[in-house]
Amino acid sequence: MMKTTAVVIGAGHAGLAMSRRLTERSIDHVVLERGEVANSWRTQRWPSLRLLTPNWLTRLPGYDYAGDDPDGYLPAGSLVDVLARYARFAGAPVRAATTVHAVRTAPGGFEIQANDDMLHARAVVLATGACARPAIPAIAGAFPPSITALTPVTYRDPGQLPGGGVLVVGASATGVQLAGEIHRSGRPVTLAVGEHVRLPRRYRGRDVFWWLHATGVLAERYDQVDDLTRARHLPSPQLTGSPQAATTDLNALTAQGVRIVGRLGRVSNGLAQFSGSLANTCSLADLKMNRFLARADEWATARGLDGELPPPHRFAPTRVDPRSPLELDLSGGEITTVLWATGFRPDHSWLDIPVRDRAGHIRHDGGVVTGAPGLYVLGLPVLRTRASTYIHGAATDSEALADHLCSFLSSERRWQGIRSPRLPARWLPRPSDPATAR
Ligand SMILES: Cc1cc2nc3c(=O)[nH]c(=O)nc-3n(C[C@H](O)[C@H](O)[C@H](O)COP(=O)(O)OP(=O)(O)OC[C@H]3O[C@@H](n4cnc5c(N)ncnc54)[C@H](O)[C@@H]3O)c2cc1C
Repeated sequence: MMKTTAVVIGAGHAGLAMSRRLTERSIDHVVLERGEVANSWRTQRWPSLRLLTPNWLTRLPGYDYAGDDPDGYLPAGSLVDVLARYARFAGAPVRAATTVHAVRTAPGGFEIQANDDMLHARAVVLATGACARPAIPAIAGAFPPSITALTPVTYRDPGQLPGGGVLVVGASATGVQLAGEIHRSGRPVTLAVGEHVRLPRRYRGRDVFWWLHATGVLAERYDQVDDLTRARHLPSPQLTGSPQAATTDLNALTAQGVRIVGRLGRVSNGLAQFSGSLANTCSLADLKMNRFLARADEWATARGLDGELPPPHRFAPTRVDPRSPLELDLSGGEITTVLWATGFRPDHSWLDIPVRDRAGHIRHDGGVVTGAPGLYVLGLPVLRTRASTYIHGAATDSEALADHLCSFLSSERRWQGIRSPRLPARWLPRPSDPATAR
């Protein structure tokens, strides 16, 4: 059995960031990866995808974007190159093509079964991603088998779809992007819209992520967020990255010709039924967007930036067609494809340690797994700050967790079965100075 101090599972950006932090602290470790570095971006993303975060925000420990398009949005393929280069730069000891099948507690740490090998480590970091598999609602089972069903993982491009209408279920980042792309291919698209987060791509001449960063929203810590459970399950904002930095909200899709309907509620006798509360859902999203824009304006005024920035303004409310259908006949041939853009889930099914709550989520305190000293999780939404949801959040998260891991290793009390210590305040990330945003 191979013995090492720490095992990191997953060589996406989070696992690589953690590896770099462990190397900085001279902690010997291996990174186990079932595919290659950046496997999710190589195998689970559709080809036209671009990051919705601007290039200047794509940064990792020791890596800052240095290209000539800081305000652009990286294509998924280019991110693969960035992460492959980063793995070499960080000297990450990645064992590719190594699937972890089980992790168990064992005397002195953990046993990890990877391929046919057994490893022993004193600490384990789970960095297998928050979006390991598409979350498909049970209602999918009620769709007629004649309708082709796709997920963002199986979708490649509109050319793979049969002719005819497409129902896209879910209007977050993935849903709005794919609804637009499929509609541009000439297919009629119906988009089922539930709770969503509306944000403009740009506001007062700056990318919305500039505002989210500058106003301190992204730096809000997990222990300061009002409703943490809700924050961790918030849908992704209706943003896409495009060379034109276009806004892809529901108004833009309606103008393009996409038909907007309410949340898909149920399927009965071959009829898809949509919620009648579409107008309310959209009003709520508009309200929340305007609340954020007001916060941005207040911040700009307080900083004396009003003279430098274009004046504040508001976007048109979401237009909802009162004739929007409440039902759609799935057996009539109008819809030939359904695309489930209903979110993603992590997959820790191989974790053989009782650390999950009743909903199946790993219980953790800012990434320090509860009830399993030496076990850490990285890369989950709002893990330690709102930025944790995005690539750049792994920089501060990995630093705090690597510090905690170091202190765990040197703690003589670690074998006494006591709970993981709460992170002392000095390990918690400080909100960044908005003045240094960008
Ligand atoms: C469609 C989409 C678009 C996104 N766009 C953005 C964006 O624009 N900006 C942004 O900041 N974030 C974005 N995200 C969110 C997030 O940054 C990505 O999900 C990112 O890939 C997460 O990185 P990660 O390292 O946590 O996980 P991943 O990149 O998923 O890496 C996890 C790794 O673990 C490996 N693995 C999994 N299970 C095992 C196992 N049992 N054994 C061994 N290896 C295993 C996988 O092969 C994978 O390589 C997006 C997410 C999605 C789904």
